Amino acid sequence: MSTRSSNLKLPDMSKLSTSGADFIDEQRFELLMRQKSDVGRIDEIIAKSKSKEPLSVEETALLLSSDSPDVVERIFDTARQLKRDIYGNRIVLFAPLYVGNYCMNDCAYCGFRRSNRESIRRTLTVDELHQQIVSLLQMGHKRTIAVFGEHVTYGPEFIADCVKEIYSVRHGLDSIRRVNINAAPLSHEGYRILKDVGIGTYQVFQETYHHSTYARMHPAGTRKSNFIWRLDSPARAIESGCDDVGLGALFGLADWRFEVLSLVAHANHLMRNYGVGPHTISFPRMRPASGVTLKEVVENDVADKDFLRLIAILRLSVPYTGLIVTAREPAEIRKTALGFGVSQIDAGGRIEIGGYENNNEKEKEKDIQIQALEREQFELGDVRKLDEVVVQLLNDGYVPSFCTACYRLGRTGKVFMEHAIPGFIQNMCTPNALTTLKEYLVDHASPEAQKAGNKVIQEELNKIEDGTKKTEIIKRLNRIENSKDRDLYF
Ligand code: SAM
Ligand code: SF4
Repeated sequence: MSTRSSNLKLPDMSKLSTSGADFIDEQRFELLMRQKSDVGRIDEIIAKSKSKEPLSVEETALLLSSDSPDVVERIFDTARQLKRDIYGNRIVLFAPLYVGNYCMNDCAYCGFRRSNRESIRRTLTVDELHQQIVSLLQMGHKRTIAVFGEHVTYGPEFIADCVKEIYSVRHGLDSIRRVNINAAPLSHEGYRILKDVGIGTYQVFQETYHHSTYARMHPAGTRKSNFIWRLDSPARAIESGCDDVGLGALFGLADWRFEVLSLVAHANHLMRNYGVGPHTISFPRMRPASGVTLKEVVENDVADKDFLRLIAILRLSVPYTGLIVTAREPAEIRKTALGFGVSQIDAGGRIEIGGYENNNEKEKEKDIQIQALEREQFELGDVRKLDEVVVQLLNDGYVPSFCTACYRLGRTGKVFMEHAIPGFIQNMCTPNALTTLKEYLVDHASPEAQKAGNKVIQEELNKIEDGTKKTEIIKRLNRIENSKDRDLYF
C-alpha cells in the first residue's frame, strides 16, 4: 500500500463546503431544552411522526421535554411501529476492521490519543490486512467498516489503497462487498479519491456538538480541535460524491438531550442543503479505554433508560436514517435497542489492530479478552461471536441481513431516499436479507443457526404474496442451496 499521503496540516478553512456554517445554535437549543412540556403538542408530533415525516429540532425538543412514563411509553410504541413499517424485521450485520492506531490528536477520551504512552502503535501491513479480511470472510461477514486514527500516514490515498486491497481479497466463494470508512474528516479532494474506489458510507462522529465541551476534549493546536472542519465534513463528502454519510455523537461528554437536538439539526441541515439526509446515525456511549480516567471525561453519564429513550426519539425524528448500535453496548441493551429502531449492529467484531488473528477456535475466550484489553481503543460490552448473535436475532424473530445491494446498484444518497420513502426498501431489502442469510446458513453457520435460520426464511416466505417476485426469491434461495452461485441480489 502507498504511504503517500496528504500532509495533515491544520485544515484549510477556505475549503469548506458551500453550506459551511456553524448551524449549532447552542443558545436556542438550550432554551428549547428548558421549555415546559406540552402534552397536546407532543400528541400532534407523535401523530406526525407516524406518517413518517422527519421532525424539526423544535419538535424533537418537545418529545424530549416530558419524562412522564405515559409519554415515554407512547414514544417507544411509535418507534417500534416505525421500525416495523420502514425497516421490517431485518437487522444488517457488519464488522469493524481497525487498520491503524497512530494518531496525532489528543482526544481526552480515546485510548489512541497521542499522549497515551500505554498504547501499542501499529498499522496493518498488506499481508496482515489480507489475513484480517480472510478471518472476517471465514466468519461469514460481507460488510466491514475500516477504522483509522488521524495521522500523516493515513491520508486519502492510503485509505483508498486499503479499500482496494479489501475488495480484492477472495476466500472460497466469499469476498467483502461493502467497505465503509470511519476516519478523520477529509477535504473535497480526499473524498473524491475515496469515491473513486467505491467506498460505502463515510462516517465521522462529531463526538460532541457542544462547543466548549468540544474544546475541552480536543486540545488546541491539534487538527481535531477545529469544530467547524469536522462539523462540515459530511457536507464536503456529499459535495464530492460520497453521498452515504454517517453522523454520530459520543454520549457522555455533554448533555444527551443537547446531542440529540444537534444530531437532528445536522441531519436536517444536510437534507435542506443537499436533499439527502445521513445514511446512518451512531450514538456510542463512552467506554473505559486504556490510559483514560473515565471520571475525568464523562461529565454527563447517560443512564440505560435515557439511552433507550434517545434511540426511540431519534427513530421518530429521522425515520429514514439507519440507526447503529455497536458492541460497545452489552448484549441486553443491544437486544432492547433493536426493538426501538436500531437497524444495524456489528457482531463478532474485534477492535484491536490485528484482532481477528485471535478468531481461531484454538484460542480461549479469556485470551481474546485479555489481548483485547491490552491493545484496543476502548473495551467492548458485547464480545459474542457472530454465530451467537445470529442465533439470538433469529430466536428473537429478526432476519439477520448481510445485504450490500443498494450502493452497488447506485441506490445511495438521494436515490436511496427516493427508494426508502415510498417503502420500496422492504420490497428489495427483505428478498436480499433472505438470500444473504441463506448464503450464511449454507457456507458458515452452526447447526443451531441453520435450523433457526431456515425456519425464519420459511416464515418470511409465507408472508410474501404469491407471484413472480416470490417465485424468483425461491429460485435464488434454491440456487444458493444447490450450487456455488452467490451474490444474487435484487
Ligand atoms: N480517528 C477518527 C476520528 O476520530 O474520527 C476515527 C477513528 S475513532 C477510532 C472512532 C470513534 O471511536 C470516535 O469517533 C469516537 O466517537 C469513538 N471513541 C473514542 N474513544 C472512545 C471511548 N472511550 N468509548 C467509546 N467510543 C470511543
Ligand atoms: Fe485519534 Fe480518533 Fe482517537 Fe481522537 S478519537 S485520539 S482522532 S483515533
